[in-house]
Amino acid sequence: MLNRRELIRRLSSFPVIGGIVGSVAPFSVLAAPAQKTPPKRDVFKELGVRTFINAAGTYTAMTGSLMRDEVMDAINFTSKEFCMLDEAQDKVGEQIARLVHAEAAVVTSGAFSGMTLGLAGILTGMDVKKVEQLPHLEYTGMKSEVIIQKGHDIVYNHALTNTGCKIVWVETAEDVAKAVNERTALMHFLHIQSDLGKIQHEEWVALGKKYNVPTSIDIAADVPPVSNLWRFNDMGFSFVVISGGKALRGPQSAGLLMGKKEIIAAARLHMPPRGFNIGRGFKINKEEIFGMYVAIDSYIKYDHDKEWKEWEAGIAHIQNAVKSVPGVTTEVKVPMLGNHTPTLHITWNESVKITSQKLKENLRNASPSIEIAGGGEPNNVQVTVFMLKPGQEKIVATRLKEELTKAVA
Ligand SMILES: *Cc1c(COP(=O)(O)O)cnc(C)c1O
Repeated sequence: MLNRRELIRRLSSFPVIGGIVGSVAPFSVLAAPAQKTPPKRDVFKELGVRTFINAAGTYTAMTGSLMRDEVMDAINFTSKEFCMLDEAQDKVGEQIARLVHAEAAVVTSGAFSGMTLGLAGILTGMDVKKVEQLPHLEYTGMKSEVIIQKGHDIVYNHALTNTGCKIVWVETAEDVAKAVNERTALMHFLHIQSDLGKIQHEEWVALGKKYNVPTSIDIAADVPPVSNLWRFNDMGFSFVVISGGKALRGPQSAGLLMGKKEIIAAARLHMPPRGFNIGRGFKINKEEIFGMYVAIDSYIKYDHDKEWKEWEAGIAHIQNAVKSVPGVTTEVKVPMLGNHTPTLHITWNESVKITSQKLKENLRNASPSIEIAGGGEPNNVQVTVFMLKPGQEKIVATRLKEELTKAVA
């Protein structure tokens, strides 16, 4: 038991709580639970950084996605101890590989770096001298060309030319036959634009096998469906890359390179902690490595049907609100190849006097601030709900309806 003097001494060292603790405090105050934890430091506010409701989607410019709680738990937990970086990659890679039906896997700093590293691994194999020579390919004996279909042209293919390779563009299987030569390192495929190419996945893999050239596929934004995590490994692509920070809701600066054992092993020669390579800048910390493991493990176990129904309900709520505005029409579309989530397209006629850019601006500049997608056309915007927190669909519905209604007057 504390004596009275000790009690008073301790009590007087507590900060005064709202002036309740006076000189003659009732005993019940002494026994009251400890003071509430002080509010967390709000660095957004402190620095004046706008936060917003994300009804747009998983855009890098909008910082991608929000990590799931279990991912943050893994990040916080692993931040308290040291471990060897390679051991973290070994053990996590082994488990992820098993989950995605790949021979091997490694956590990268995004799908983009996964593409660079996978190709780098193919170019050098386990030859450390070659690893040091990249991105210089001339007179090294390394291959130097990557074959891609014209329809699969996208800015992210720069990840492949970062190795020093050049792209050879093809359209047909005959073009591939002509393009393959002793310099061909890889045949790369872009899933999200597979409808824009003449050659589909299986045929691409078969052509690679026929000419003894490894094949790769970029599925960065292409879950859901969850089965895409293993579909292309099962199909026989030599390596597959996906983003960690899109619908997987892992770390935004992480991704996954998965595929053939020898490619992943060689790719790791180009990664930290090693520093004689083109990939030293693609550092990934242990927290993100474990975060990716938990993101993928829990994503696979997730109730995807339930989540899909929640998305549909959210979209329906917003749709019902905005379609009641005269002159406004709506349509729900689901992109099939990537960003596979119900997407509400909102279109209006000339009786609604607002441009899509102005609508986006009005939503952005109000409180709470809201981001939506679209705006390429003057009278059409798009909304998704897969990045919303529960209940935010109500705010988005109300604000969209308000702004569109105002514009009718
Ligand atoms: C987002 C994206 C990338 C880049 O992925 P990161 O994980 O941000 O490196 C590459 N390709 C496609 C098709 C993408 O959508």
